[in-house]
Amino acid sequence: MNQEWADKNKKMQALLGKEASFREGIEVLIELRNDLFGLIASIAENYPPEAFSAMPFAGAKGYQSKTLAYSMWHIFRIEDVVAHTLIRQDAQILFAGGWQERIKSPLITTGNELQGAEIAAFSEQMDVKALCEYCKAVMESTNGLLRELEYKDLKRRFSEEDRQRLIDSRCVSTDENAFWLIDYWCGKNLLGLLKMPFSRHWIMHVEAMCRIKNKLCQRARKGVDPIAYCGLSCDHCFLTEWCGSCRTAYNACSYATCSPNGICPTAACCKEKGIDGCWACDGLRDCRTGFYASAEDTNAIKALAMFIGKYGKQELLTVLDRLHQTREFQVIQEIIGLDPEKGLQILEENRLQ
Ligand code: SF4
Ligand code: SF4
Repeated sequence: MNQEWADKNKKMQALLGKEASFREGIEVLIELRNDLFGLIASIAENYPPEAFSAMPFAGAKGYQSKTLAYSMWHIFRIEDVVAHTLIRQDAQILFAGGWQERIKSPLITTGNELQGAEIAAFSEQMDVKALCEYCKAVMESTNGLLRELEYKDLKRRFSEEDRQRLIDSRCVSTDENAFWLIDYWCGKNLLGLLKMPFSRHWIMHVEAMCRIKNKLCQRARKGVDPIAYCGLSCDHCFLTEWCGSCRTAYNACSYATCSPNGICPTAACCKEKGIDGCWACDGLRDCRTGFYASAEDTNAIKALAMFIGKYGKQELLTVLDRLHQTREFQVIQEIIGLDPEKGLQILEENRLQ
């Protein structure tokens, strides 16, 4: 488990266990949920539609065998059912907000009954943007519920009537792969529910979503030119778990993600000019477009494109390999500095060694 999330989860459990620290425990739980949701939202915002129904680990054991869209649906359907039908005894967000139609989901269940290709087919039907908005609405509603709780509520247990209400909601399939959930939830007290559907369940599925998106990015980059339009090398980039290259639909470099429609203006400019990269542009040295315009450190990247213009891409990859073998650094500016001309000189010096 991701160490930061594991630590917060552990801290939250310890704090919830004592009346004096209960409130703080609830805030740590909400903080953990916000962290995890930030990751879910980044995934939902940055990848192409086909990523959400892809199953790069189909047939594998564990949550990574599902899809990104299924994982989102499943986490938040479970939470919606538990928070509203079981605990609050009011309308689920799915129904109160007309989300089923907006998401275009053929299901109202948690999805546990789906297997293999059914999961991919179900995922293809959903509108991911609407799905992410639904997830956010459920999270916020549950955060409100969490803040209303008192320490004494943690011991609350559930009755046969509660169990029957869950069955009657038809939100848990009668399939044996799903129906067990009802007894599982009803067998816990409220503290137990906070520890599973509202926290640990998220962690396990978000970790699986990360494995899925890492794999999809890796697949997208396979066989693709490793040099980005701006001159950076995808083979030496610290963002490779997030970005599948600006030459693919999986472009999630930091600059693309903060640009309109998720398109890097530098990549767009090169494509418009019909050139392979900025090194082939006459205006490179004075360019203040896109990536080169945002700040001194991004402008410094120009040194890489200038180097490619003089010596070619392969030579840059060789220099970068050498630098990474001999020096500890994350971003190339730590080596080349912030001035493109001086940066070019430094790269050239490392070519000669
Ligand atoms: S951020 Fe840029 S260099 Fe890094 S993987 Fe993405 S396109 Fe390649
Ligand atoms: S104008 Fe700037 S961003 Fe566009 S291709 Fe030329 S160097 Fe690259």
